[in-house]
Amino acid sequence: MDLKNKAFSTRAVHAGERVKQGRYTPVASPIVPSVSYLYESMDELDAVFAHTQPGYIYARYTTPTVSAFEAAIANLEGGEAALAFASGMAAIHAALLGAGVRAGSNVVSAFDVYGATYSLLTGLFAELGVHTTTVDISDLDSLENHLKKLHPSALIVETVSNPLLKVADIPTLAEMAHRYKTQLLVDNTFTTPYLFQPLQHSADYVIHSATKYISGHGDVLAGIVVTSESNRLRMFETNKLIGGTLGPFEAWLALRGVKTLPLRVQQQFHGAAQIAQWLADQPEISRVNYPGLTSHPQHELAKRLFHDKGFGGMISFEIKDATRKTAFRFMESLELCLPATTLGDVYSLVLHPATSSHRTLSDVQRRQIGISDGLVRLSVGIEDPADIQADLEQALKRSAK
Ligand code: PLP
Repeated sequence: MDLKNKAFSTRAVHAGERVKQGRYTPVASPIVPSVSYLYESMDELDAVFAHTQPGYIYARYTTPTVSAFEAAIANLEGGEAALAFASGMAAIHAALLGAGVRAGSNVVSAFDVYGATYSLLTGLFAELGVHTTTVDISDLDSLENHLKKLHPSALIVETVSNPLLKVADIPTLAEMAHRYKTQLLVDNTFTTPYLFQPLQHSADYVIHSATKYISGHGDVLAGIVVTSESNRLRMFETNKLIGGTLGPFEAWLALRGVKTLPLRVQQQFHGAAQIAQWLADQPEISRVNYPGLTSHPQHELAKRLFHDKGFGGMISFEIKDATRKTAFRFMESLELCLPATTLGDVYSLVLHPATSSHRTLSDVQRRQIGISDGLVRLSVGIEDPADIQADLEQALKRSAK
């Protein structure tokens, strides 16, 4: 089926599917767990090894179920090709290597990226000889000065940052990065391809923790990178050696999740907008971070980038004068929203960034970024927004006592 010019929700249902298997075509892609594959002749196997004939060799390289998932996400992000990984972190690691980051390279990173991304760059990659400079990417003059001085191999940012919900001006960042021969890597996990497609604005690599919105049900760990065919091939050859490959069972679940992605996120975005507005009016809350609020510093930018599709399903907020203990008490008082360390699921989830997603950072680093002990992150699920709101209200009242 030609999916060109079809709407996002149509492509979400059909992209990657209907790959002919001999005489028949499965409607839904099957799970193919075989580790290795047989061909009619050794010449054919040799051609598959040489990439002159499509095919499968060994499950560490890839499998048909993983290919189906990759085709679906490449289509939704409007990219040439995708490569799936065993986790979002494996995908970030692979994209950095794909962008040519090696010992002696410079990387510039938004200072408020996901904690493990920050630790990968400033810990492990630093030990391997990569120098990372963290910057506030909303200060475009300062960013340009860093790019001019460092000529980094990669600039890595999140479209909407975790957990402070800052919005990156991807079109401007791409233009600026390319002026200094730097590749732009965008973690699009919070936004999903439904809301924003960075490759359409000249980003070089788009990364997802597919564990989150893409899979959406809290039952699969996966990552994916969408990029050009040549970048994919480079990452593919590297991953054949590293082996951070997505398994076929996980790929099947992730592909199943893709079909309802637009339906789920529409409900989540609608609920989040309503709840963010309500939170902003509560006397127990001192600050709400949500790009849909007119008080958000990048509200106009978010409107320009996301058009009328919404502002995402993630909110973070500060409980007024809260210590870590108050924040914990609030989270323990919730009955519907689950205090679990993930996001983007059908269930509403709350997380305390200082002790979970950004735990590996020092107190000083967290303070510099703006992650306080009273900050709570909420991932709005697909439940009725009124029920989520009622749960937050009773927990705020109970924790204030
Ligand atoms: N990127 C973002 C924005 C995340 O929030 C996460 C995990 O929470 C990751 C990447 C890492 O993904 P994974 O847990 O699938 O490795």
